[in-house]
Amino acid sequence: MKVTTVPRPSRSLRTQVFVIEVWLGLVVTFRHLFVNLSRHIRRALGLKAPPGSVTIQYPDDPAMLGKRARTRHRLLQREDGAPRCTACLLCETICPAKCIRITAEEAPDVYVEKRAKSFDIDLGLCVFCGYCVEACPVDAIHMDSNNVELSAYNRKDLIWTMDDMLGRKKHEFRTPPAGPTEPGYTQRYQEP
Ligand code: SF4
Ligand code: SF4
Repeated sequence: MKVTTVPRPSRSLRTQVFVIEVWLGLVVTFRHLFVNLSRHIRRALGLKAPPGSVTIQYPDDPAMLGKRARTRHRLLQREDGAPRCTACLLCETICPAKCIRITAEEAPDVYVEKRAKSFDIDLGLCVFCGYCVEACPVDAIHMDSNNVELSAYNRKDLIWTMDDMLGRKKHEFRTPPAGPTEPGYTQRYQEP
């Protein structure tokens, strides 16, 4: 494979005299300050204005995620409670981080043939690309749990098993506001 060398851009005298760049940066900062201040004041006075920017006080205040955000994985179940996964291994094969490990076993249902005996994902390796969701032919795995709090005290706790992803194990999560119709959804989350 050929390595492409990207040349560093040369620094002009103006860039090297940092004072000018610092002042330009401050101009941008104060422009944002006054634009947002005026928006907040106009809205507080009941006048029509686009919403001003706010700082979300995460983690005290959970942030709202986009509808298409790829978050922690979950496995879906059939009506009888059995996992939908047929252990076809397509997700394990396509995973670029090689962080999915599935063990297959024979399923009692002759129409299903195979099922997953174990299904582990190492979230310490996962790059949240969503390929596993795209590859699944039976819509058995989703990344719409709306949870991005992945921290753990050791790497072993970052490995999520089938029970974790089926919701059979209790985990303490905070639920972010779901959208404008949710009572907890406040004006400051609204898009302009
Ligand atoms: S999101 Fe990407 S990296 Fe993570 S388990 Fe799925 S395929 Fe692998
Ligand atoms: S692609 Fe879907 S059915 Fe196949 S092993 Fe992965 S989750 Fe299971």
